[in-house]
Amino acid sequence: MDVMNIVQTKMGWVPPGIMRIVEKYARRIPSVQRMIESEYDTVMNELESDLKPYRDVHSSFSEIPAKGKSKTAILKEMAAMKKKEEDRWKKGYVSGAVYHGDDRHIDFLNKVYAIHSQANPLHSDLWPSATKFEAEVVSMTARMLGAEEARLPEDGKGRPELIGDGEGVCGSVSSGGTESILLAMKTYRDFAREQRGVTRPNMVVPVTAHAAFDKASQYFGIKQIKIPVGPDYRVDVEAARRSINRNTVVVVGSAPSFPHGVVDDIATLSEIARKKGIGFHADACLGAFILPFARKLGYDVPEFDFRLPGVTSISADTHKFGYAAKGTSVILYRSIALRHYQYYTVTEWPGGMYFSPTFAGSRAGALSAVCWAALVSMGEAGYLEATAKILETGKRIREGIEKIPELKILGNPLWVIAFASESLDIYRVMEYMTSRGWNLNGLHRPACVHICVTLRHTQSGVVARFLKDLRGAVDFVKENPATDGGMAPVYGMAASLPMRGVVADMLKRYLDLLYRV
Ligand SMILES: *Cc1c(COP(=O)(O)O)cnc(C)c1O
Repeated sequence: MDVMNIVQTKMGWVPPGIMRIVEKYARRIPSVQRMIESEYDTVMNELESDLKPYRDVHSSFSEIPAKGKSKTAILKEMAAMKKKEEDRWKKGYVSGAVYHGDDRHIDFLNKVYAIHSQANPLHSDLWPSATKFEAEVVSMTARMLGAEEARLPEDGKGRPELIGDGEGVCGSVSSGGTESILLAMKTYRDFAREQRGVTRPNMVVPVTAHAAFDKASQYFGIKQIKIPVGPDYRVDVEAARRSINRNTVVVVGSAPSFPHGVVDDIATLSEIARKKGIGFHADACLGAFILPFARKLGYDVPEFDFRLPGVTSISADTHKFGYAAKGTSVILYRSIALRHYQYYTVTEWPGGMYFSPTFAGSRAGALSAVCWAALVSMGEAGYLEATAKILETGKRIREGIEKIPELKILGNPLWVIAFASESLDIYRVMEYMTSRGWNLNGLHRPACVHICVTLRHTQSGVVARFLKDLRGAVDFVKENPATDGGMAPVYGMAASLPMRGVVADMLKRYLDLLYRV
C-alpha cells in the first residue's frame, strides 16, 4: 500500500472538489497510472488465494463439459464445500449473515423448498399456492408493523395516497432488502412525477442509511441529500427538515441503521415529511422482526411503524430476523394507490398482456413458500423467544465491551453493536479477531467495527469466547502497535484515501476477481 500511503500523507487534507480534479488529471499521467495499476495487482493477488480456495481441490469448468458429470459426484463435491464453509457461521463466529441456522429449522425450510421448487408466482394461474403464500406473508408482516392501527392523521393533513385510508396497508414480496428499498424509491419518484410534476427528484437520506438508497439514487436518477447524524449516531432531524425542498420525493429513516444499530427519530422525521405532503420510508430491514417483539418484552423501543401517520412505507427483511431462507423481503405501503406506482404493466407487447409487481419477471415461488413456512412455524411465541435471547446476548456483549477501557460503544444499540477506539487502530483489532476465526464488519466514517448478534451467538460459550478474544486483540495491538501486512492497512487506506475514484476502481477489480474461474 506504499503508493496510497504516500499520496495520503503527502497531500494531507484537500477539499474533496479540488481532490476530484487533481485525481482526474493525475490518473491520466502514465507513470501514475502504472503505479496505481501495480498497486491494484498487488492487492488482488493477495486476495486471490483466499477467495479461490477450491481451484486445485474440486473440479472446475470454464465451459460446459462434453459429457455430464455424475450426479453422485456432484453431490459429494457440494457437500464437501458446504462442510468446509459452515463451521464458522454455525459456531457463531460471524456477524449477521446467518440469522437462525439451527439444523432442524434449516432441514424444515429445505423440505418446503423441495416441494415447491418449480413454482413461479409470475404464472399466478398455474401456482395459486405461490400467490397465496405471498399475500399472507405481506399481510402477516403488515399486521406485525401496525397495519391495523394505521389510522388517518387527526389533522387530516397529507396527500390521500400517502396517508392512506387506514385500511389499505399493503405490499409485495421482493428478493431482499435492497430490492425492497429500490422499489420504494422508484415508487416515490414516479408518484411525485405524476402528482406534483417533479422532474428533478431528490431524496433526503441519513448518511447512515443503507447503501441500497445510494444504489436507488444512481439507478433511478434521484439526487441524494445526505443528512449527518448527531453524537448519538441518530440522524439530525433539524438538518433533515431544512434540507427538504419542492423536489423532495421522500424522506428516509432507519430502524435501526445497519452501521451502528440505532433507531432514528422516526416519529419526528415522519411528521416533518407528512406536514409537507412528502412520503416517508422507514428502513426496518434489520429491525422489523426484532423491534415489535422487543417492545412486547418490555424494551424501550421508539415508534417506527404504521402507527405513526407519517410513515408511508416500510422495508422488512424476512430473510434476516424473519428466519426465512435468503432471497425474500417485504416492501409495505400505507395505501394501495401508492403501491400502484411500484407495479409494471405493458399492454402493447407482442408477447401478450404483461405485468409484474417487482423488478424480476419470473421468480422463485419456492422462496415465498419457505418464507411463509418460516413465519407460520415460528409463530409469535417463537419470535418472542428468539428476540429475548438475541437481546440478552446483545446486552452481555455490550457490557463486556464497555469493560474494556480502550474501546467505546457507538450510540445506544441493542443487538447491532459498533465499537471504536481512541487509542488503537480498530482495524488491527478486527484483524486479530479475524486471525482467531471471527468475521466482523469493518465500518468507516468513523472507523469502527460491529457485530450483529443473531441466534448463532446465543449458543452457550459464544459470548465468553468473543469477549476473551476481543480482550486479547486489544492487548495484542497495544503491545504490537506497528506490524505491517494483512488487511488493516487496506481498510485504513480505503477509509481515508482522498482519491475516491481509485478506491471505487479497486472495488470493481475485486468484483472482476470474483468472476475469475
Ligand atoms: C440488510 C439491510 C438492508 C438490505 O440488505 P439486503 O442485503 O439487500 O437484504 C437494508 N437496510 C438495512 C438497515 C439492512 O440492515
